[in-house]
Amino acid sequence: MLDFSITILGNGSAVPTAWQNPSAQMLHYNQHRFLIDCGEGTQMQMIKYQVSYRNLSHIFISHLHGDHYFGLIGLISTLHLFGREKPLHVYGPQPLEQILLMQLKASDTRLKFPLLFHPMPASGIIYEDGDLEVTCFPLNHRIPTWGFLFREKPKERNLRKDFVAKYHPGVAQMHQIKQGADFVLPDGTALPNRDITKTPPKPRCYAFCSDTAYDEKLIPYLRGVDLLYHEATFDDAMADKAAEKYHSTARQAAQLAARAKVDKLLLGHFSARFSTPDHLLKEAREVFPHTFLSVQGDTYAL
Ligand SMILES: [Zn+2]
Ligand SMILES: [Zn+2]
Repeated sequence: MLDFSITILGNGSAVPTAWQNPSAQMLHYNQHRFLIDCGEGTQMQMIKYQVSYRNLSHIFISHLHGDHYFGLIGLISTLHLFGREKPLHVYGPQPLEQILLMQLKASDTRLKFPLLFHPMPASGIIYEDGDLEVTCFPLNHRIPTWGFLFREKPKERNLRKDFVAKYHPGVAQMHQIKQGADFVLPDGTALPNRDITKTPPKPRCYAFCSDTAYDEKLIPYLRGVDLLYHEATFDDAMADKAAEKYHSTARQAAQLAARAKVDKLLLGHFSARFSTPDHLLKEAREVFPHTFLSVQGDTYAL
């Protein structure tokens, strides 16, 4: 199975503290590297946790609150200084393009690599290759904010080795069988596809939701995902504040995970006021036991 995992680079909210950085995570899919958000200090976190950006080709910025993108110009500058030539794709809210161009112009920086900006549509597929598809969808926050779904494409069926050894199908036949065709013997007997193939692993899906108020409109996007990263800025005692600030409590993240029937919930975007988020885990697990606290530097495989 191809490597499909995320490394948490920052899981803090709003302001950096000695123990947590603002939002950023690196998604690994096979040899690809996708950065999701790029809060201040993200490149320092990459150095600290030895997360290479050599294969980084696409960056997705959820929204324009500083704790989600203030590290972007610094990272772009470093890639330039290291002589990058490969294109870098940045997906984000429309104003981000002007912000980046203004910063580059003010420092008279002419990038050595193409910086390709893609304004985020309201929702829909924003990236696709042979194995993976990335979809954005609207979250419920004070300014336009997007969540992301990274979904593996369904794989072809696998041929059973004993079938191939016995019947020696041709290349074209093998291709058809992988798509679901039966195999027809010279005497007209058909070997059903289910008997000569194995079902491929179920496509995996990762969902990123930060920042957002509790909103059941997200459920259709999140239904059945393998891993949901969801913000848990506040605890039960601060539920009113969460609503006022368009953020979620840990319990609300768990309620959403339960209603969307996700497999596993990973909490993050912890308020800087908590020196430890342990009580958030307790509150969330009362609703959705398969909940975990994200830890900076840790990698979570799907
Ligand atoms: Zn935030
Ligand atoms: Zn925000």
